[in-house]
Amino acid sequence: MSNLEQTLSIIKPDAVERNLQEEIKNMFKKNGFNLINEKKIHILKSEAEQFYKVHETKPFYNDLCEYLSSGPIIVIILEKENAVAENRKIMGATDPKNADEGTIRNKYGISIDKNSVHGSDSVENAKKEINFFFSN
Ligand code: UDP
Ligand code: MG
Repeated sequence: MSNLEQTLSIIKPDAVERNLQEEIKNMFKKNGFNLINEKKIHILKSEAEQFYKVHETKPFYNDLCEYLSSGPIIVIILEKENAVAENRKIMGATDPKNADEGTIRNKYGISIDKNSVHGSDSVENAKKEINFFFSN
């Protein structure tokens, strides 16, 4: 049965700074994702705080929001069958040290905080996150 989904990817500041966006986007394309919309933006810390609100009680929340707002990012709507899970698969584990060979975080991640990409973790959150960046 067909299950076409959309998910939100963010190429984080550490990857944009190293000019890895084309390589990462090519990985999405090679893995059968359609890039429906994308834009390069530089968000405010207050916007990062809103985006990562689910993590507000975590000890890493403040640093995470500082970081996501520290430089340009690329936000991308990805579409594919089972896009949410498929994107999580090619991203790899949160900590690049634990990310499987060939995943984005394995190839490009520097550390648990500078792990190069964000990906929605559920269909429901994907909808919210896409709306967050692409609703005008
Ligand atoms: N993060 C961190 N320290 C931690 C856990 C997470 O800096 O101990 C950062 C990391 O950049 C991660 C983000 O917070 O990508 C969101 O955490 P989450 O658990 O949602 O991981 P993800 O869904 O990005 O794999
Ligand atoms: Mg997450």
